[in-house]
Amino acid sequence: MKEIPEIKLVPVPETDEAKKAVGYQWNDEAGTRHKLGGKPNRLSMEEYPTCKNCGEIMSFYAQIDSIGDDYDLADCCAIHVFVCFDCFTTESQLNQIL
Ligand SMILES: [Zn+2]
Repeated sequence: MKEIPEIKLVPVPETDEAKKAVGYQWNDEAGTRHKLGGKPNRLSMEEYPTCKNCGEIMSFYAQIDSIGDDYDLADCCAIHVFVCFDCFTTESQLNQIL
């Protein structure tokens, strides 16, 4: 398992349609919690998945937040992406991080 340093990601909507899609009317934090590396919000290392291909503990690669009210994932959940740096298998999970 590798630990990637946390790299915050900031959405840059470039069209009016995209600008309307980003963010929540009643929640200022949801929709801003995108990042590469670091630690997944509300998930401990003991909960990291094991690679289905080779059995190694997978590395946390990215947290992709819900986009906004119109593209919400199960009440402000985020997608956690894991990768195995031994065989490059990936896995994602939908987790509540509030
Ligand atoms: Zn693997």
